[in-house]
Amino acid sequence: MRQLLTLFAALLLFVGTSAAQQAKYVFLFIGDGLGINQIHGTELYNAAVHKDMANGGRLSFTRFPVRSYVSSHSASSLVTDSSAAGTAIASGVKTVNGYMGVDANKKSVKNIAEVAAEIGMMTGVATNVGVNHATPCAFYAHNESRDNYGDLFNQLLESPIDFAAGSTILYKKREGLLPKDYVEKAKSAGMKVLQDPAAAGRVRGKRVLLLSDSLSRKALRFATDCTEKDPTIVDFTASAIKYFEREAKDSGFFLMVEAGHIDYSCHDNDAVTTFEEINHLSESVQLALDFYEKHPEETLIIVTADHETGGMTLGYDHYKMNFERLAYQKCSLESLTRQMQHMRKIGKTSWEDMVALLKEQLGFWDYVKLRSKDEVALRKTFDKNFLKNGEKVVGLYTSNEKMASVAVKILNTRAYIKWIDLAHTGMPVPLFVKGVGYEQFLECYDNTDIPKIIAKIMGSELQN
Ligand SMILES: [Zn+2]
Repeated sequence: MRQLLTLFAALLLFVGTSAAQQAKYVFLFIGDGLGINQIHGTELYNAAVHKDMANGGRLSFTRFPVRSYVSSHSASSLVTDSSAAGTAIASGVKTVNGYMGVDANKKSVKNIAEVAAEIGMMTGVATNVGVNHATPCAFYAHNESRDNYGDLFNQLLESPIDFAAGSTILYKKREGLLPKDYVEKAKSAGMKVLQDPAAAGRVRGKRVLLLSDSLSRKALRFATDCTEKDPTIVDFTASAIKYFEREAKDSGFFLMVEAGHIDYSCHDNDAVTTFEEINHLSESVQLALDFYEKHPEETLIIVTADHETGGMTLGYDHYKMNFERLAYQKCSLESLTRQMQHMRKIGKTSWEDMVALLKEQLGFWDYVKLRSKDEVALRKTFDKNFLKNGEKVVGLYTSNEKMASVAVKILNTRAYIKWIDLAHTGMPVPLFVKGVGYEQFLECYDNTDIPKIIAKIMGSELQN
């Protein structure tokens, strides 16, 4: 009898353990361009600048039980782009830079959102850049090019994705349709199209497409430039959670959230904007943690990145770092560019006007002491570029005034932050995991391992 009881107890334990190993609610956060230095830099920045923050400025995910890194190379280069990395993280397959949800032979590959839908879970993607930009597309589209925006969006409509959020629908002129035309297509496909994040909580039994208040926004406003009423990735995440909390109560869900704007500020080599974008990612993850507190046995949270952007370095010149100086940057490089263009437009073009702007937006002279070579560089760029032609520093997503770019670079340098490039690097990317089945990520070495492990923890399998 005692033996029988022991066997029964063991059986119970086994059933209990395997049931507890299954994730019903899965959050996958992808920081686009988010390197390990960007993460550590944000915590140092918070400690130096936001001294009043909860946890001393510690990000919500850096103390997860799994704190690791994975390799990110693509099939065509040791340095990946977002579409190849997105495909790897979504489908477990290496592909060529620029390819979207297909392998190196252009054959469609199954992704983790499709696996989730097959086993009856609801699925969602949210990003603070275009809803059909590379990273979200990896979870619903299959195309030989990340640039075929119209085709990619049409695939979102045909996909099983229940909730999709982004700043707008990106389009190519050659494809003939504008964002408003795609909105009509989404409505015809039965999606509820919203432009207010708070409205998603009221939708019943319908797929949702959540966009920003202006379809001309290729990305939501940078965290540094937001006003109270501007939507952010935190709002989009809250909106998705509200929607799924009710709609997916029984089925469970898989939700991918991309903090896509980190990549843009890293392409601009703008440290403060990058750090504030990462704070928004941290707040979004905190919402998932709040959800986890209510469902600790069934929730899995993963935070990772597709690649590092910019080659950010913290500290140089014989052990120097001074992040306190970053406290005085009030806006993004992109916004500083717009302000300079406005100045030229209204004829405020004296050196004194420029000094006033740099004092106000970057704290130069009053709070951040400049070296004589910095002053020479500013004055030279002012005379040669700002006054004459407003020469641009053209990046992947932005086109900034050289004057603004030189000024932000000087501030970064005064904090002893350097960037080695305006593009992506081949550095490994961080991986943080908490929740049910997290132990399985202790043996996760490459970005292609991520979706395969998630599928297993969801009680399924991803095979390509
Ligand atoms: Zn990029």
